[in-house]
Amino acid sequence: MSDAAFLDRLAAIVGARGLVSDPADQRGYVTDWRDNYLGTALAVVRPGSTEEVAAVVRACADAGVAIVPQGGNTGLVGGGMPHETGREIVLSLQRMNRVLEVDPLGYSMTVEAGCVLRTIQETAAAHDRLFPLSLAAEGSCTIGGNLSTNAGGVQVLHYGNARALVLGLEVVLPSGEIWNGLRALKKDNTGYDLRDLYVGAEGTLGIVTRAVLRLWPAPRDRAVAWIAVASPAAAVELLSDAHAASEDNVTSCELMGRQGIDLVLRHIPGAADPLAGRHDWYVLMEWSSSRAPRPGANGSGLAPAMEAHLGAAMETGLVLDAAIASSDGQAKALWALRENHSEAQKREGPSIKHDISVAVSRLPAFIERGLAAMHETLPGCRPVPFGHVGDGNLHFNCQSPEGWDKPRFMAHAERISGAIYDLVVDAGGSISAEHGIGRLKIDELAHYRSRTELDVMRAIKRALDPANRMNPGKVVRV
Ligand SMILES: Cc1cc2nc3c(=O)[nH]c(=O)nc-3n(C[C@H](O)[C@H](O)[C@H](O)COP(=O)(O)OP(=O)(O)OC[C@H]3O[C@@H](n4cnc5c(N)ncnc54)[C@H](O)[C@@H]3O)c2cc1C
Repeated sequence: MSDAAFLDRLAAIVGARGLVSDPADQRGYVTDWRDNYLGTALAVVRPGSTEEVAAVVRACADAGVAIVPQGGNTGLVGGGMPHETGREIVLSLQRMNRVLEVDPLGYSMTVEAGCVLRTIQETAAAHDRLFPLSLAAEGSCTIGGNLSTNAGGVQVLHYGNARALVLGLEVVLPSGEIWNGLRALKKDNTGYDLRDLYVGAEGTLGIVTRAVLRLWPAPRDRAVAWIAVASPAAAVELLSDAHAASEDNVTSCELMGRQGIDLVLRHIPGAADPLAGRHDWYVLMEWSSSRAPRPGANGSGLAPAMEAHLGAAMETGLVLDAAIASSDGQAKALWALRENHSEAQKREGPSIKHDISVAVSRLPAFIERGLAAMHETLPGCRPVPFGHVGDGNLHFNCQSPEGWDKPRFMAHAERISGAIYDLVVDAGGSISAEHGIGRLKIDELAHYRSRTELDVMRAIKRALDPANRMNPGKVVRV
């Protein structure tokens, strides 16, 4: 089939609204959030329904064209980027953005894959429910992308990552068949778990088109604190004690180094340091509960309990200083300091990201060794470690030395990342805690995972996508 005939067939399936033909309009689909990739697409297709997705997939099968599924294009590892060959299509789910059903009684919601995460959160809140997935890209990322990368975010500590938040899926398979697994079941032991296979598959096994999500009761009480701690070890100990002190209501615990705070203060208008003194390490901790504080009962809410916990921790020296938000606005401002780390790093200039995890109790020793390794590998580089300390997951990032341009800095990237990943593996950790593998880490995965694990992954990929048409060259090479 000629390219022209193929494009005509796609146009007949999705209509004019569903095809992005202008190269200028295509740009947002072929380059990523960090401008690290610039691919080329034979077409950018935006189907409006599952049936259209299936028809597009069948057309691609007939024409021998590969498919790169894409949601909000906020992924940070190039998974949603077409290669430079121009022989793939980008299949964007953005038009499939409807909430199909909310079941507050059964605590579930059915949505199309292109639904933006924030829309899902707001819809849940409008029904007095919570959808707890929360991350800085939530205004742009889609639930299909969240599930396909098994996204984490800032509340994994309490609610689990995307895998724990989904009950059922609908997936278009590489053959164009539709698998309807849209079940709102909490229990379903009927053989291999296909849903779990597609979660975290990064679009390499099929295209997620709809999902049934789990909901929780809406929070009615919340306490947010900005805490200066002496060290990462103090942060881990503080969190460990907080679980019981909060009656198991710690929903977020984020660690940040001073370097990252300085970047946020420099680049994000309106950002302000909540504490008077400068400290090396900070924790942002949130407790929340669906139980409202009892009116009039002195000390019955989370904020007084948090205050007592932090007060006690100050006396033992774990906490150096702290501020508890006294309004939603203040809580938002504290969260903005954490959420703007990625944006501030981007504005500062070139950086290398390491989205790693180790067991929580091993985090302090890892940080110490990791910081030393970075400085040793490239003197003058600026480590920017921050992230989800409660999950043992840090964005162990490295900003270039002051004034360096990207090519000069990237010449050192492999050595820096190699040094960090060796330490991660030595600590029994993972080289990709929440962003996935995509294109960026395909060689690292092949290097650091065992032959047995890789063989099983390849066997799954070959069995489900024998023609290697679904997002080829991502996650594992076959
Ligand atoms: C500022 C910022 C902060 C972030 N913070 C976090 C964080 O805290 N935690 C975290 O986990 N991630 C984070 N991310 C990464 C990113 O937001 C998440 O990975 C997000 O889940 C990706 O969703 P998306 O819709 O943008 O997917 P895309 O970027 O479009 O795609 C990501 C991958 O999923 C595949 N895919 C997308 N949609 C589908 C589908 N419907 N079916 C099959 N495959 C599909 C793509 O092919 C690609 O491999 C952050 C990103 C940014 C820019």
